[in-house]
Amino acid sequence: MAPATLECRTVAGEIWAYMDGELSTERADAMRVHFDGCAGCTAQLEYRQVFMDAIHESISSQKTPPALREKVLTALFAAA
Ligand SMILES: [Zn+2]
Repeated sequence: MAPATLECRTVAGEIWAYMDGELSTERADAMRVHFDGCAGCTAQLEYRQVFMDAIHESISSQKTPPALREKVLTALFAAA
């Protein structure tokens, strides 16, 4: 099977699954190829990674009020 050429909207829809390692190897490879050639989707990926790091940090530090954490998570999933 030839490597699939993904559109940006497809990448955007599967970016969480990609980050979570839930995609098949072939699909993840196709995503990687797309990120290599697409600055826009790479920025989206980096943005989400920074966001997730910040969330993990706030959860582990226990300094973030639960309401704020919930607000951040809601905003995050609304944007996905
Ligand atoms: Zn793209």
